[in-house]
Amino acid sequence: MTAPPAHEPHGGALGSRLNWLRAAVLGANDGIVSTAGLVVGVAGATESQAALLTAGLSGLLAGSLSMAAGEYVSVSVQRDSETAALATERRELHESPEAELDELTHLLTARGLTPGVAREAAVQLTERDALKAHARVELGIDPDDLTNPWHAAWASFLAFTVGALLPLLAIVLPPASVRLWITVASVLAALTLTGWWSARLAAAPAPRATLRTVAGGALAMAVTYAAGSLLDVAGV
Ligand SMILES: [Zn+2]
Repeated sequence: MTAPPAHEPHGGALGSRLNWLRAAVLGANDGIVSTAGLVVGVAGATESQAALLTAGLSGLLAGSLSMAAGEYVSVSVQRDSETAALATERRELHESPEAELDELTHLLTARGLTPGVAREAAVQLTERDALKAHARVELGIDPDDLTNPWHAAWASFLAFTVGALLPLLAIVLPPASVRLWITVASVLAALTLTGWWSARLAAAPAPRATLRTVAGGALAMAVTYAAGSLLDVAGV
């Protein structure tokens, strides 16, 4: 048997920590790109620092709150369905323990155990904690470790906010003559980091993923800047 590659998550805890980290990097990435697009677009239309600050701050708040709300809803739905599945499982274990033991045996056989060993394993798992065994083998969830919707919402909110702060500060703080270039440069540098890091976390080839992330951000800024400039020329 060969050892798993270094980046492959091999335990539930490590796997879920990696998932959280990946979600955080993606959330930060989202905050960088959407806020950068917003403030660069406004910078194409106006020199007004008040307008830039208003746009950037609104983009930060709208984005982070919408990410948090979306995450809350989706994790709540997932948690409700997991709780319902666990309740069904608990009832079935109570009403027909023999059929459930057969089911667990069958599932373990399907995973590669011989029928005799599968039966023995199913009996032992059922004696120790039948519900947990069915939750893990049949439903693929850990009943002691269901994701908390509030935690997920806060994590998304924070990740997006951290990302969004970069273009917001970069467009508002420097002098007017250089703020656009400082924003573009710092956004592309930050996207190089998030692109590279999220690729590493996903154990994917880093250069291509980094290039895609940076190109996506550059495109977003180019498109909104062009749109903002058109509005400025049109005198809107
Ligand atoms: Zn079952």
